[in-house]
Amino acid sequence: MVGAGQAGIEAALASSRLGRRTLCVTLKLDRIGHLPCNCSIGGPAKGHIAREVDALGGQMAVTTDHTMTHLRKVGTGKGPAVQTTRAQVCKTDYPLSMQSIVRLQPNLDLFEGEVTGIDAAGGRVTAVRVQAGGESFRFDCRAVILTTGTFLNGLCHEGRNKTIAARQGDRAVQDLAAFLLDLGVRIKRFKTGTTPRIRLGTINFERTEVMPSEWDAGPMSFLHDRPMPKRELLPTWQTRTTAETHALLSDNLSQSAMYSGEIEGVGPRYCPSIEDKVVRFAQKESHPIFLEQEEWDSDSVYVQGFSSSMPADVQLAALRTIPSLERAEMIRPGYAVEYDMADPLQIGPTLMSKLLPGLFLAGQINGTSGYEEAAGQGILAGINAARFSAGEAEVTLPRTGSFIGVMVDDLVTKGVDDPYRMLTARAEHRLLLRHDNADQRLTPIAAQLGLACDVRKRRLDDKLEAIERGKRWLADTHFFEVDNGLLDDRGLAPVKGRCCFLELLRRPEVDLGTIEALARATGVWDGSLPPEADDGDFGAAGPAARAQIEIEAVYSGYLKRQEEEAELAMRLDDLAIPPQFAFVELKGLSHESKEKLGNVRPLTVGQASRIPGVRPSDIALLIGHLRQRK
Ligand SMILES: Cc1cc2nc3c(=O)[nH]c(=O)nc-3n(C[C@H](O)[C@H](O)[C@H](O)COP(=O)(O)OP(=O)(O)OC[C@H]3O[C@@H](n4cnc5c(N)ncnc54)[C@H](O)[C@@H]3O)c2cc1C
Repeated sequence: MVGAGQAGIEAALASSRLGRRTLCVTLKLDRIGHLPCNCSIGGPAKGHIAREVDALGGQMAVTTDHTMTHLRKVGTGKGPAVQTTRAQVCKTDYPLSMQSIVRLQPNLDLFEGEVTGIDAAGGRVTAVRVQAGGESFRFDCRAVILTTGTFLNGLCHEGRNKTIAARQGDRAVQDLAAFLLDLGVRIKRFKTGTTPRIRLGTINFERTEVMPSEWDAGPMSFLHDRPMPKRELLPTWQTRTTAETHALLSDNLSQSAMYSGEIEGVGPRYCPSIEDKVVRFAQKESHPIFLEQEEWDSDSVYVQGFSSSMPADVQLAALRTIPSLERAEMIRPGYAVEYDMADPLQIGPTLMSKLLPGLFLAGQINGTSGYEEAAGQGILAGINAARFSAGEAEVTLPRTGSFIGVMVDDLVTKGVDDPYRMLTARAEHRLLLRHDNADQRLTPIAAQLGLACDVRKRRLDDKLEAIERGKRWLADTHFFEVDNGLLDDRGLAPVKGRCCFLELLRRPEVDLGTIEALARATGVWDGSLPPEADDGDFGAAGPAARAQIEIEAVYSGYLKRQEEEAELAMRLDDLAIPPQFAFVELKGLSHESKEKLGNVRPLTVGQASRIPGVRPSDIALLIGHLRQRK
């Protein structure tokens, strides 16, 4: 295990929890779990991944529930596919909590040092080479996972100042980057950036809009009934850039690392710097800025929406044009970092390198951006490295079953041209991949693999039982025409003859609260529906089961259609292509498809069909050929 950011932590924990002796080598033990940018976990699509990592037995969501400082619901005005939560965590507590988890984890050893290369024999990994305290070490192993984030040839920019570093406070590494190049890994240069931090006491809060925490957003982890922050949750504050901010930034573009040509790396499309926003969205009069306290016990505030690689004095002047920040003092300026990433087209859907069996890659090294994306890949790589080293078949996660599956499939099938960030729109069947049902989708897989603890399994069983019991009661219990007056009282259309309560629940304006009231009024209530509070026969499963029943009832038509489409897609993913299949020799295949298929070397027809530029007629030809071969 190389690295202990969010990818490395999940990978190391998964591997050791699966019973493999695992060594995690990282540059600084006291930076394990460090959050170099916004201390936020979750948000659109990212919240879904955090829940999926949790459902698979991962750590991110559990630690978030214990260390959060702020919590909000996201996507509430939209359908259930988009709804999730976003938490801010304490910048010091979160990594400290992660450090104690990894230190106490059986089968997991930690080692402070720099991995400089990997040894291989017989076409597979045999050892890692490490430099530590001026000495050289060699650790034998059967599998290695690289999760080196922005460290490979990292170069930080602040205006025209350049520093060789992976991020503030961390040096860059060169030897491992050189090793990967020698191995034949295609390296690209990407860039990301962070915002200035300002002093809490220098903000004029009267000129901000307060965004209080929403305690009822619920826990991040399926193991918890509620979030467990150690103190009362904090608010965040909103303000906006002004025409003056934009003018100042535009006037100083020549000093920006990005616009003066200092940065070669490609930046994140969905998380542009403030100077980039001012240029790309010139017609916009202002951009929102969120002020987020980074820790319980410090006055450092993260200026979300203001990532910049301008010189410090320009950043400060621009900040002071923003209402509420007129007297802001900067603790440190924002900066950008350029780094090497490895082309994910050279890894397979298990995250193992196609160049060297036993070598796995996860996290930002694969061209993604974000803690959750890193954690999602980390847990999958940890599972597969553990299974590979034990001689067991590796696992893949289909894109029809999880956002992690969507992300990995996108990476290994389409590759990346800019830092990949998860969006709900990337999933074709996103109504199936909801925040609320990640446990139903993935905990059974975790249980089969041996990653789900007993509490997790029991909580899922309780939830499923509560859903089943509730649905059965709704389907078997009827509302009769004679009681139509009760519907009329509530402004609801009457029923003809009789109608089961499940059918009534399908009406968008009816929820389980209404059903319960109607059942009580008609004398058929027997308590079979899960309660709103966590108690009674249903244990803690009540509210979660209740939400499932409502969503499944209201969206039953859409869900059915997406399930059918997903099943169809799965059929193509079940059609395997032999690993050494010679696409060039397949008669009738277009030249373009031959080239693209040969480059990616898809393992299933489903994967082949998603490669950009591969024609549907060529896929039909491939299916015909594979069926004939069979
Ligand atoms: C300045 C900055 C700004 C960012 N801004 C955003 C943003 O706006 N939005 C967003 O979504 N994401 C952002 N990110 C990205 C997000 O922080 C990362 O995607 C995520 O943390 C990556 O996690 P990781 O586990 O892949 O790598 P990291 O968290 O970077 O961890 C890498 C680990 O590898 C170790 N390591 C590296 N090389 C070696 C070696 N040779 N030997 C031993 N150990 C090694 C390091 O010590 C470290 O533990 C930003 C990152 C940075 C640095």
